[in-house]
Amino acid sequence: MRKHTIAAMWEEIPDDADDLALVNGGFRVYLCLCGKSLPDRTAAELHAMETDQCTTCLGTTTEDIVPGYSQKCTACAGTGRRKAQLTWELAHAEAEMVITVEIVRDLISGFTEPFRLSQVADLVRDTLRLPVGRLPVGPRVRDVLRQLEAMGELVLISAPEQLLRGTTVMLYRDPYWEHVRN
Ligand SMILES: [Zn+2]
Ligand SMILES: [Zn+2]
Repeated sequence: MRKHTIAAMWEEIPDDADDLALVNGGFRVYLCLCGKSLPDRTAAELHAMETDQCTTCLGTTTEDIVPGYSQKCTACAGTGRRKAQLTWELAHAEAEMVITVEIVRDLISGFTEPFRLSQVADLVRDTLRLPVGRLPVGPRVRDVLRQLEAMGELVLISAPEQLLRGTTVMLYRDPYWEHVRN
């Protein structure tokens, strides 16, 4: 059996590079050990799919966010496998159905002090009696809180842990919010 180790290498990145394109797989050269031509990100993802590898990390188990910063792949729980990625996708869809905006809004309604993401995630887990590790509770709760923030109900008050690329690509590990007072 041939090895399909896919590597992504950073290209020279201009100062005015589109940050979104950068984070989403642009400005890289893709190569597979088998020699197949991978001209762009789409081709690389397709080849990862046909070789049963995760389409986010291309089987490498790590996600390169910006040059000099990588993290364990969240799409496949760091396994690099397509099957794990699909299972995790289903779990995300389930979490979206179970953890609704209404539930989260209700749970945090009594908070008068700033609250952390991890705190709300624990509360959701306890309230809905969700076993640890089966559903991506943290990521889902983060999405909901960001949604409430976009709707003007909450305001993010913590500073980012790390600025990865100016102020457009920032890293928040356990951010905290507070209610917008009227
Ligand atoms: Zn290959
Ligand atoms: Zn992955």
